[in-house]
Amino acid sequence: MPAASPISHEESCSPASGVVVTGAASGIGGACADLLASRGRAVALWDLDEAAARRRAEQLAAEFGIAAIGLRVDVSDPAAIRAAADASREAIGTIGGLVHAAGMVLEMPVADTDVAAWDRLMNVNLRALLLATQALLPDLEQTGHGAVVGIGSINATLGNGLIPAYSASKGGMISLVRSLADDLGPRGIRINVVSPGQIRTPMLQPAVAALPEGTFERRILLGRLGEPREVASAVAFLLSAEASYITAAELVVDGGNISSQR
Ligand code: NAP
Repeated sequence: MPAASPISHEESCSPASGVVVTGAASGIGGACADLLASRGRAVALWDLDEAAARRRAEQLAAEFGIAAIGLRVDVSDPAAIRAAADASREAIGTIGGLVHAAGMVLEMPVADTDVAAWDRLMNVNLRALLLATQALLPDLEQTGHGAVVGIGSINATLGNGLIPAYSASKGGMISLVRSLADDLGPRGIRINVVSPGQIRTPMLQPAVAALPEGTFERRILLGRLGEPREVASAVAFLLSAEASYITAAELVVDGGNISSQR
């Protein structure tokens, strides 16, 4: 008898539980918080930028009439994650979803690799997914439809000598998610990775500015960069009961980049 039972159409269209979104003050995390709130889900926005997270939470609460809180959380800090999980539960009630979108990228070819920088990047991009899932485990399990999404990257698959630590953190995320899916499945919790290609956010902006115009677009089959909202759509789907039989999967949202021969 599987632990996670199919969910009715009504339940899938009106999910009741709240969602924690890390990196929610900007870019993809911000778009996820916006879209989830617009669909009636309470949201807890975790970010280094406390003012921006709070501002966005207040706007979402006012616009969509949902519970929302913005918190300063450095997701590389295990104690901060635990404290934020408690504060989020207190503020928005039942938590049935987690999106780990906080992330950092460092240009660090092998000759320049610095141990402290490597460790920080891994702790932010990769370890935080494990620790936030751990901190929210009772909540996710209690809802009976808990779901987690990690924001990976096509760089988990592509080779790029400038960013080996970043690529390894995202490749590690896919492996981590598969193993957690084994552990979480019997608890009725699904976990998946969304791997974006080049998405128009502050993180990508320096690369866009440094390269000749059209460099990314030439390779992408759809011929354009992606928008944060287009990644958020995939995330919202995976968090919903529409995805009730999807776990341990990687959903690539790259406009046809990995598969391009251009
Ligand atoms: P972004 O606009 O820079 O957003 C990332 C957010 O995470 C920022 O608000 C950042 O805060 C926050 N953050 C960084 N370190 C943190 C920490 N230790 N604790 C809490 N929050 C932290 O970038 P984005 O493009 O939306 O990136 C979101 C995710 O998508 C990342 O995991 C990234 O690797 C992934 N991704 C992005 C692309 C792309 O093309 N944009 C492609 C593939 C994957 P600060 O700004 O204050 O540092």
